[in-house]
Order: sequence, then C-alpha cells, then structure tokens
Amino acid sequence: MDLKLYDTLTREKRVFTPLDPNNVRMYVCGPTVYDFAHIGNARPVIVFDVLFRLLRHLYGADRVTYVRNITDVDDKINARAAQDFPGLPLNEAIRKVTETTDRQFHEDVAALGCLPPTVEPRATEHIEEMKTLIERLVASGNAYIAEDNVLFSVPSDPDYGQLSKRPLDEMIAGARVEVAPYKRDPRDFVLWKPSKPGEPAWPSPAGIKTPGRPGWHIECSAMSWKYLGEMFDIHGGGIDLVFPHHEDEIAQSRCVFHTPAMANYWMHNGFLQVEGEKMAKSLGNFVTIHELLKDWPGEDVRLQMLMTHYRQPIDWIVSKTKDIEHELWTWVTTLVQTDAETHGYSRAVRKEPPSPSAALLEALCDDLNTPEALAVLRANYKSARDGGFKEKNQFLMDCQFLGLLRHNKLWVHMQGVSGRNTRGLPIAYEEARKLRISIANNLPELRREAELSLAAKGLGAEVDADGNVTLIPLTEATKNIGARIEKLIADRNAARKAKNFNESDRIRDELAKMGVVLKDTKDGTTWEIAR
Ligand code: AMP
Ligand code: ZN
Repeated sequence: MDLKLYDTLTREKRVFTPLDPNNVRMYVCGPTVYDFAHIGNARPVIVFDVLFRLLRHLYGADRVTYVRNITDVDDKINARAAQDFPGLPLNEAIRKVTETTDRQFHEDVAALGCLPPTVEPRATEHIEEMKTLIERLVASGNAYIAEDNVLFSVPSDPDYGQLSKRPLDEMIAGARVEVAPYKRDPRDFVLWKPSKPGEPAWPSPAGIKTPGRPGWHIECSAMSWKYLGEMFDIHGGGIDLVFPHHEDEIAQSRCVFHTPAMANYWMHNGFLQVEGEKMAKSLGNFVTIHELLKDWPGEDVRLQMLMTHYRQPIDWIVSKTKDIEHELWTWVTTLVQTDAETHGYSRAVRKEPPSPSAALLEALCDDLNTPEALAVLRANYKSARDGGFKEKNQFLMDCQFLGLLRHNKLWVHMQGVSGRNTRGLPIAYEEARKLRISIANNLPELRREAELSLAAKGLGAEVDADGNVTLIPLTEATKNIGARIEKLIADRNAARKAKNFNESDRIRDELAKMGVVLKDTKDGTTWEIAR
C-alpha cells in the first residue's frame, strides 16, 4: 500500500519514497525546555508518533530513525533560570530548569502513549557540529561576521523563501522585529551571537574572540546532519515553525551541503487553540499536558487529538474529553468482560507489535487520516463487541497501533469501584478514579493525594498489575503503603549499586513527592513521613 504524505514545500500530496528503504529518516523539532509543555506542544509529539509507528510497520521497526531534538540553550531558558533561582550562578540555575523541564516533558508524553524517538539529541551537546557548519558557511560566503555575531546572508541563497513562499516585503517586515544595525539585509539571521558575562558561552567559531552561543535555527541543521546525514526523508514540526525556523534551516543546510532541500517531505501540524482562542496565560486558557493528566487518562487526550486531521486547526474544548472517556470505557468494558472467555487475548498480543487491519492502514496511509482511522475503529468495535476472539483481537490491535489501550493500564478506563470488606464504596468513587489515573499516567504526587483522601474516608487501596484498584479497610491499606515505600527504597538501593544515579535520584524524588524522607545510614536506609 502506498503511503501518501502532504509536503509543505511542494504544496502537494505525494507518494512517499524513502531515499533508503533500509533507513527511513525523520527529524521533528522538539521542545524548548523552560516550562511545562502545553497541549499545543503535545500535538506534533502525538502526530509524529503516529507516523513513526506507521513507518515502522511499513519498513520494519529497526529501519526507521526518528530524531527529535531538545533545545536546552535559549533566551527563554536563561530568563526562567534567573527568575526561579536568583541565588544561584546562572549556569547552575539553567541546569536545574532544563533538567526538571526535560523530565516533566518525557513523563507527559509517555503518558500520552508516545514511543521514545530513536535519538533525542540536546543542543548543548552538539555545539562542535554547529560550529563546523557555521565555519563552512562563512568560508563559502553564505555567512559573515559582524560585531562578534555570525549572520547568515539571505541574499546569498537565491532559493531562500520557497517553503513559506512569503512575499519579500512580508519577510522583511517579519524580520524587522529583531532590528540590528550590523545586518547587511534585514532578513539575515543569527547563526552565532556573543554571550553576556554569566550567560552560557562556548569558544566562538570563525576566529571570533568573545565566547558566544548558537542561534536556534543552526541547532536543527547540525543535529539532523549528525544523525540523519546531509539529506533525509521527512522533516516535521508545527505550522508556526514554517517561517522563519524551517525556512532558515533549509537555507543553512542547502548552502553547506549543496543539497536540494534538506528533507524530501516537509510536514506541519496545524495550530491548536483552546476554547476558541489562542492559548495565553493572560487569558486563563493555558492548558498544560501535566494539568490535563491529573484529570484524564493520557489515552483520552491522545484520542481527542487524533479526532482532527493533523493539518487542520484544532479548537481544544476541555469538556469534550468527558465524551472520549465514555467511549474508551465502552471499548474496554467489552474487551475486559470477555477477556476470560477468550483466554486473556489482551495479554497474548503484548509481545508482538500490533498489526493493523487493512482498512486502518489505508486510512493512515492517506496522509495520516486519523479521523478516517477512528471511523474504521468504531466500525471494528461493533464487530468486536458482537464477534469472537478474532474480531476482538483485531480491534485491540488497531487500537494499539494508534497507541491506545496499552494493556498494563487498561483498568484506568473502567468506571466502577470494587472493594473488600468495605461498605459505602460509592462515596469514594472520585478518589478511586483519581488513583487509577495517577497510576496510568505515572503521577506519584497525584497518587499520594488520592491515597490521602481515601484514607480520610477510612479506605485504602490495593492496585494490581493492570491498574485495577480494590478499596480495602485502612488497617490493611496502611500495610500496602508501607510495602510500596519499601519496594521503592529497594529499587533505589539497586540503582545506586548499579551506579545508575539518575534513576536513584528519580526514585528519591518520587518518594519525596509522596512525603517520604529517606535517611541513609551505614546500616541501610530508613524512612519517615515528613511533617
Ligand atoms: P516550542 O517549544 O514552542 O518550540 O514548540 C515545540 C513544538 O510544538 C513545535 O513543533 C511547535 O510548532 C509546536 N507547537 C507549539 N505551539 C503549538 C500550538 N498551539 N499548536 C500546535 N503546535 C504547536
Ligand atoms: Zn528545528
């Protein structure tokens, strides 16, 4: 089946032909890590995850390289670091901001059911590659030095502007935002700039004495080059990146490598607004992924995103998630209730990558038509509900192919409450729901909150491997919390022994979020609840 993709550069839907079918290569611009990612940032992550899954199916899981960068050097990061950690040296403060934000981002997108990309390069670890490109651009006359900046000379690239196809006067007007007297042409953009004292700085390229830092656009040209080569298959990102970011990436890469267009297919997801307006903190409609994950299973959010074709704009209506929750609940109820009769088919497919039905594949191969894919899924649901193992299994695999209904957390979608030796369970309905969500979305803080509010009602919770929550009287529950803490401490000790300090720190932080303080003594680790 032919895969067809819409290419922003040629403005047409074309059959996708990889440069090398043994190594299909995709680059997607990732987040700038200075704050919680918002629901708009989730859009490219989910959209290109669906494409990644599709490419892996079509070409083989080990024949697709997906690179998504992390921008960890940026003025917004510096500003946030100075604001949040005024007492610390800037570099240390920046590390704190980027490490925390980076971890939150990964937790968020994992809860949304996104596979990790093959490589996630960080800008600050690729300064040498950026300097190499900058020096080559200076040597070829495509860049020049002015007041310790290196600027790309837009007039030196006669093909500049083909991606965004903006008229010259509009590009000039856009570029005027950043007025700099030393620019030879108002459209020229920064490849390297000098750092002020205290700001992150590296030895500069091209003989410049003042230490400096790279511009944003050169990052992506350097990192895609390192991991994907001079020319690759797909370059993606949100529509807001077409100009100037992607236009500038193309100009840089084309002038260094003398290639036609950096990538063969340029894909852009449409913009997302919330409740009818552009998202803004001042409007009170700024929705972070993290906040949504406190209220809904990540899969609900993913499904809501997939209901709109990726090139269309989305108006995100928070209350709509309720309908989606209901739909997923219907699906899961049917599957789980019949699980016993069908010999636990839901587990049987876990080891193999899910294989989509022909109709689902056809929808996705048509420029990732996810609304059509969901129509297929709904039709298949009816056959699954009324059919036997084969139909149920296919339905489940179609869901999983889209990154939905991951099995170990299936129970998050169930709306009932069960219990042992407990009366009055309905009073804890909301708490039990929050607990299930916190487990599925991997949010220890929310889990603790839910456990505490359950405890206030004299209830505790037992959670099995499928995320199924059973409420139990508190005395037994207390033992459970204790056992969970002991297990985390054992995991942390194992991580420390293996010198995996990132993991051991992460567990310590997780425990801290639960309100548990660790004391490492020579006889081992003890714990107590912080007061
Ligand atoms: P940023 O961290 O702002 O550079 O954005 C990271 C990714 O999210 C880029 O691919 C952006 O195009 C995308 N993005 C940011 N805001 C939105 C939005 N409101 N709707 C859709 N995509 C967005
Ligand atoms: Zn980029």
